[in-house]
Amino acid sequence: MTDPSIFTRILDGEIPGEILAETDRVFALRDINPQAPVHLLVIPKTGNYKDVVELATGDASLLAEMVSMAQQLATTHTDGDFRLVFNTGANAGQTVFHVHAHVLGGGLSEASVGA
Ligand code: AMP
Repeated sequence: MTDPSIFTRILDGEIPGEILAETDRVFALRDINPQAPVHLLVIPKTGNYKDVVELATGDASLLAEMVSMAQQLATTHTDGDFRLVFNTGANAGQTVFHVHAHVLGGGLSEASVGA
């Protein structure tokens, strides 16, 4: 067994975090270090998948639930438009190996593609 991720520890109430939405299988947090005017994280409750590649292979319906929650959050927290980013692998900037989607919105530049 690996140690619970920081996201699991927030979900379990062991450490503080701002949980904005929750379903049976997915929850959303406000990112502690925002890179955009709106920067939220959508996270499966299970820590079984380290990245989006594992999740897409292992449970595509859970990935679809994440996208659905991202769309709902973008509607609630900004104008409905959003960028969805999955950093995948340490060399791509992934630091937490419990799959999560960055939901970025609000005043994004048209040309930018980075998180
Ligand atoms: P990544 O670098 O793609 O693995 O994303 C991890 C994200 O988790 C970063 O954007 C961090 O700012 C965010 N993060 C780390 N710790 C916390 C926390 N305690 N509460 C909310 N977001 C966090």
